[in-house]
Amino acid sequence: MPERIHDVTAYTGRRAPKHTSDATSYHCPCLPSSGKVLLFYRYFANPPRHPFLDSRQCLELARWHEETCTALNLTGKIRIAGEGFNVTVAGRDEEVEEYVKRCCAHRSFAGLRLGSKDETEKYFKPTPGCAHVFEELSVKITDEATPFSVTSYTPSDWITPPPGPAEEEDQSLITYLSPPAFHALLSSIPSDEKDKILLDTRNHYESSLGQFTTPTLAPHLPPIRKFSSLPAYLEPAKSTWEGKEVITYCTGGIRCEKAARYIADTLPVRRVYTLHGGIQSYLTWFSEQLRLGLVKPEHSVWKGRNYVFDARGSTGIEGDEGRVGMIGKCGLCGKEESAEVVGKCAVKGCHLVVLACKPCAEDKAATGKDWECCGVCVRMTAEARNGKRKGLCTCEQARVSRLNENNP
Ligand SMILES: [Zn+2]
Ligand SMILES: [Zn+2]
Ligand SMILES: [Zn+2]
Ligand SMILES: [Zn+2]
Repeated sequence: MPERIHDVTAYTGRRAPKHTSDATSYHCPCLPSSGKVLLFYRYFANPPRHPFLDSRQCLELARWHEETCTALNLTGKIRIAGEGFNVTVAGRDEEVEEYVKRCCAHRSFAGLRLGSKDETEKYFKPTPGCAHVFEELSVKITDEATPFSVTSYTPSDWITPPPGPAEEEDQSLITYLSPPAFHALLSSIPSDEKDKILLDTRNHYESSLGQFTTPTLAPHLPPIRKFSSLPAYLEPAKSTWEGKEVITYCTGGIRCEKAARYIADTLPVRRVYTLHGGIQSYLTWFSEQLRLGLVKPEHSVWKGRNYVFDARGSTGIEGDEGRVGMIGKCGLCGKEESAEVVGKCAVKGCHLVVLACKPCAEDKAATGKDWECCGVCVRMTAEARNGKRKGLCTCEQARVSRLNENNP
């Protein structure tokens, strides 16, 4: 075999066609809960600061992760950029533990408080899973740690995340909330609240599977397909969010690092609160409270399932499978409040994410039939399926019209 050439191009090309790289179902011969999936990131501009990486350092870091993960049989997705990194990897317990140990000793983690088990758990955010939830290990060098695509936008300020469980105010407009502080804030919104806005910064298919919501504060759910469409969605808020307090959340916190700052920098808001560690940290915290008998499932301000970018499809509150519930509609049989797994429309040029109930997904797996997002895609002939799509399917038409009507 020819030796792998280690230059930047080895980490910038696509291995799979666009929108097809994410596995949505998987076969796993592992014992249940014999492994973990990690989800973590770092923005170097966010204290404790670290100099941005130049292209040579990006390459070195990409190579280090690739070699370390390969040696430890980890799979997953690693994105390295000059501004920071965004990582989700999976494997067996001992090997994931060893990876965490090696990360903590690596210079790109310098300055982060990762001395205790509690600190590493909060930072790496392990959840049950195994190496089979990803098809492969994919290491890429990208322009941004997560694509926001606002040209030449660098947040004007990066503040220190809270050292402990308490929320921390800062000179800046942004306040990080720990999961219990976020829970307390959302649980105590009065019914006549006019100044607070709850904003889900994720994509529409993620928020339709699960979301934070309370009887007194419904979330804004942008009908966007990718994070880089968020700034355009927020454009009208320049005139409507004057003096508002915005509360943001996303899966693991990385998108809100940029979105919260973008809102603070460009919109006339009074304050931005953001959930530190994202939905995943909230679910871990709430699961622990539940395990200790300190809360009941119905106290959760999270409803539904947490969409994840691996073949598990979604995660939820541990020890409460199904009770806090499902809020998403199955895209295959139409059953309300049943969606917890994820597939993709098989029509080329569509590939929309389809949310489904478990029985439907199992039926597709057993019969080997294609997933389709709607009748338009179902009716496409085999020949047309592989050709170029003409016009939008019903789902996309509905989303685009929501986007046009739904001003924040
Ligand atoms: Zn497995
Ligand atoms: Zn179904
Ligand atoms: Zn489709
Ligand atoms: Zn469709």
